[in-house]
Amino acid sequence: MKLILHMCCGPCSTFPIQELLKENFEIQGLYYNPNIHPIEEHTRRKENVEKLSSITNIPVAYDDEFRQDEWEAMKDIGEDRCHKCYSLRLEKAARYAAEKGYDAFTTTLLVSPYQKHDLIKELGEYYAKKYGVQFVYRDFRPGFRQGQQMARDMGLYRQKYCGCILSLNNK
Ligand code: SF4
Repeated sequence: MKLILHMCCGPCSTFPIQELLKENFEIQGLYYNPNIHPIEEHTRRKENVEKLSSITNIPVAYDDEFRQDEWEAMKDIGEDRCHKCYSLRLEKAARYAAEKGYDAFTTTLLVSPYQKHDLIKELGEYYAKKYGVQFVYRDFRPGFRQGQQMARDMGLYRQKYCGCILSLNNK
């Protein structure tokens, strides 16, 4: 099955790639994270995905969209901003998968115990239905520590905050 893997960063991608390859998925990555701020951080995470891509031989498409002003304007809506943040990225992955003739998509966000896992699952399934592709749901969280160790071993940069300017200011 041909799968688009939305990649939020290098370290979170290590374990899901390992597991999806065991299941014989044919994977293409997609780096699309307009939530990551400031621009230096966005670039740094992208460079780490490029590094992981060359280590694993997983091809990755990159979209450099960057929307810091939009996230700064969300400071009064609290954690509801995460709903918008996941929606933006998952809709992009689902639409991209459908347009490029892939069967399915998933996201490395499913590895993190710090994310709103059930909301990601719900939104993934919603956009799968909207675009007529399958959402491959896996609970990768038991492999989070292993994935972080794999990232350490590969010399990948491991960030200390989720991504948006608000999460940077609250860390
Ligand atoms: S905290 Fe993380 S998931 Fe929530 S809006 Fe910020 S970057 Fe997105």
